[in-house]
Formats: sequence, C-alpha cells, structure tokens
Amino acid sequence: MPTAPRVDLRSDTVTTPTPEMREAMANAVVGDDVYGEDPTVNELQQTLACMTGFEAGLFMPSGSMTNQVAIAVHTRRGEEVICAEGSHIYEWELGMMATFSGVVPRFVPAPLGVPDPEQVRLAVRRSIHQSPTGLISLENTHNKAGGTVIPLEVMAQIRKVADDEGLPLHLDGARAFNAAAALDVPITEVCRPFHTVSICLSKGLGAPVGSVLVGSKQLIGQAHRYRKMMGGGMRQAGVLAAAALIALRDGPARLQDDHRRARHLAEALVNAGYDVNMASVQTNIVYATLPDAQRKVDAWAEKGVLGSALGPDAVRLVLHHQIDDEMLHRAIQVLTA
Ligand SMILES: *Cc1c(COP(=O)(O)O)cnc(C)c1O
Repeated sequence: MPTAPRVDLRSDTVTTPTPEMREAMANAVVGDDVYGEDPTVNELQQTLACMTGFEAGLFMPSGSMTNQVAIAVHTRRGEEVICAEGSHIYEWELGMMATFSGVVPRFVPAPLGVPDPEQVRLAVRRSIHQSPTGLISLENTHNKAGGTVIPLEVMAQIRKVADDEGLPLHLDGARAFNAAAALDVPITEVCRPFHTVSICLSKGLGAPVGSVLVGSKQLIGQAHRYRKMMGGGMRQAGVLAAAALIALRDGPARLQDDHRRARHLAEALVNAGYDVNMASVQTNIVYATLPDAQRKVDAWAEKGVLGSALGPDAVRLVLHHQIDDEMLHRAIQVLTA
C-alpha cells in the first residue's frame, strides 16, 4: 500500500473544499434560491456576471446542465447545433440536446480543438430540405483535444459568421478561465464574442459543486424555466455558492501554476519515451498515446498515482491546485519508472 497520499490526476474535478471553503459554507447566509432569495447565490451570480462582462448569471449543479439549459434557450426542436468535433455538449452529455431540446449536433472539424470559421459558415443550413441551424457552440478550452485554446481572432471571426447568419453563439467555457490564463488576457476577452457562456466552478477553480451560465438579463430569465424543468432548482444553495465565491476569488490566479506543471509532466513523459503531442499541451491537461491504456492506469494506481484511460490507447492526466510540485515529482517517478 502507498504510504504517501495518492496523486489524483484523473480530472480537475477531484479537488476537495479547502478549510476556508468549509468555514464559508458553514457560515453562509442562505434563502430559497428558487424564489431568488438566496443572498449568497445572488452574490455569486452577480460576481461572475460582472467578471465576465454579462448582465446576469444563473447557478446550477453542473456544467452539463448550464450547457443544456443554454441550448434549450437558444434553439427550437428540429434544429441543428454547429459545434467542434469532440465537443462535450454532445460527446459527454448523454444525448441530452436531442432528448431535452430535440436538436442534433453538426460537427465541424477542429484540429487542436479550433474550428475554421469558413467551415462553420459552410455548415450553416438554410434550405427547406434540411434541418435549420439554431445555434453555434464553441468549447474553450477544448477538453477532448487536450485542453487546447481557441485564439481570440478565431472566436471573433466565428462571431462574425453568427452575426451574418443571425445565429446565437454559445461558449462551453467549463475551463474559460484556463483559456484566459493561457492567452494571458482578462476573462472578459474570452467571453466577449458570445451570447451565453457556461463556466464551471468545480474544475480548475476548485469549488466542490457548481457551474454558472452567464448572459443577458433576457436570456438568463428564460434559462430559469429550463433549469427548473431539469430539476436544477436547489433551494438553500448558498452553502455551495459560498465555496464557489472563494474558488472564484483565489482560483484564477493559480491556473498558471497548473499549466506550468502540465508542461513539466508532458516533457518528462516525452523524455521517458511516451507519445505526447506537445502542441496540444496548452493548459492543464496532458494526453499520452500508449498501448493497453487501462492496464497501465491500473498499474500506476497500485503505486498511488491515478490517471484516466480514455479509449484503448489514450491516457489523460489533469493538473489542479491540489497537486503541488512534490506530488508531481512523485507522479513522474511512478509514470516514468
Ligand atoms: C466538465 C465539463 C463540462 C461539465 O461537466 P459536469 O460534469 O456536468 O459539470 C462541460 N464542458 C466541458 C468541456 C467539460 O470539461
């Protein structure tokens, strides 16, 4: 059995609330959020809306819910949603866009998670013989592509396509703060091109639970109804929002450290002979291609280092604020032994 605490690199969702968060949770002033009366939830929503440059925000239990509520707000049944291949809204949200909103995805190619604006334009459907396009949705950073970043110019060009076509533009910004850190710009720059943005507080920022959808007052007003339909009306959710406010205050500034450690880990893996596409290592996620991924992951787990086998020959390792340099060093020793 390992004597040191295990090093959990499966995801940036595995962080546990800090003592300061626990204290804030215990002391949170709460009310019934379905009535809009939880002051701590209201503060969180207002704080994040203000930080990202939007009028309003809506707190929900998960990023899948914020994305799917946004899709419901923007689309009508029978429409298509243009998204980058591998997008979380389709790959990892269990067909919810079809079952809840009655819409289907239209993937566009996205090398390193970045779609070509002209391909997005070509994917827009207008003919009476086709499902009309209802929404364009981007993902920044792009999880499945390796936590890769969409450059600001590309997002602006895709916004131009959306405007030309009269379409709304949503961002799955589960890791939008990682994108801002990697681009070294304020979070407002990453969010500016979009009508709605979904932001996870429980990923790299370190909150135990929750995501926020930000947008105009009007869109967020509509989002309330769909959140309730999905069962996302959480009542005294201020106990969660209290922890999320601390994540929002302290989390963004720490992300550069996660990115530095991810690069360090990737380089160590390459030096040990692993196949890692260094071009994809832009934020806090490292993918390695190797045969028999699950067996390898199981063997590492016995030595106290956890990763995820995603498919038969891919391993994903994710950095977060509860992995310090010492733990990373230990992980590298195990992974490269
Ligand atoms: C994690 C994640 C989400 C939301 O996941 P939940 O587990 O539902 O909170 C959405 N989009 C991306 C890109 C993600 O990585």
